Amino acid sequence: MNDNPVTLRDALEKARTTGLARLEAAMLLLHALGRSTSERAWLIAHDSDPLDAVIGSRFAALAARRVAGEPLAYLTGEREFYGLTLQVDARVLDPRPDTETLVDWALHVLPPRPSPTVLDLGTGSGAVALALQQQRPDAIVLATDRSVDALAVAHSNASRLGLPVRFAQADWFQGLHGPFDLIVSNPPYIADGDPHLAALTHEPLAALASGPDGLDDLRTIIEQAGNRLTGGGWLLLEHGWDQAEAVTHMLTRAGFVDVQSRADLAGTLRCSGGRWCDPG
Ligand code: GLN
Repeated sequence: MNDNPVTLRDALEKARTTGLARLEAAMLLLHALGRSTSERAWLIAHDSDPLDAVIGSRFAALAARRVAGEPLAYLTGEREFYGLTLQVDARVLDPRPDTETLVDWALHVLPPRPSPTVLDLGTGSGAVALALQQQRPDAIVLATDRSVDALAVAHSNASRLGLPVRFAQADWFQGLHGPFDLIVSNPPYIADGDPHLAALTHEPLAALASGPDGLDDLRTIIEQAGNRLTGGGWLLLEHGWDQAEAVTHMLTRAGFVDVQSRADLAGTLRCSGGRWCDPG
């Protein structure tokens, strides 16, 4: 008996029995077919088409990697973020929808006057910087990362999308001067011993973990940001689900005013920030 899948529908059903979600199975099959992952309507219309054996094994391999925990975005090479299609791979964190909260808030506090300056620290794929640049074409956006690999990904996303974000390699504020009207960051913030990290082994650890309480990088950024902000400029930070209190406390202690937090789509306080009051 031959139990090899013979139609696209058969292949999808077989993949579902391994625990793959329906939408992800469809996206991976489209990718294996060399089609855009958004062509689900095509797939529905063609699900009785015969499946080529080479494509069938390509799909089975992708499905197995997904079931083993690899991010879908690394398998398809693409992630939608704030309406942009970004190319991502294992060199960068897979951008999360939660981070769109940071972009929304940043757009809200960016001064309306022309050409505000923005710094995105630890840009990874470039997601936040590129979304801000796309929404505010007049902004002068600098995006940094410590990882040269990440900068290569971000740079190629910027070129492909035609967005004039500038990039620099930097360890947080090292070598950066400013002042900036807005500083944003989605730094690593998971505690080193957090069991949650075990599920994230495909992503760069340096983009995820940050010391015993997960706050090492947030602490550094908050301590050093004031000197690089214009008077009244905002520092906005993404953080872990249980870190809003610690982060707002650190912001207040560092001299920020109007300190507040914002919830993500799941209702979790995901970002905190404050305004720098020029001491002069
Ligand atoms: N939000 C991610 C997670 O918990 C972590 C991202 C980060 O550390 N910046 O899976």
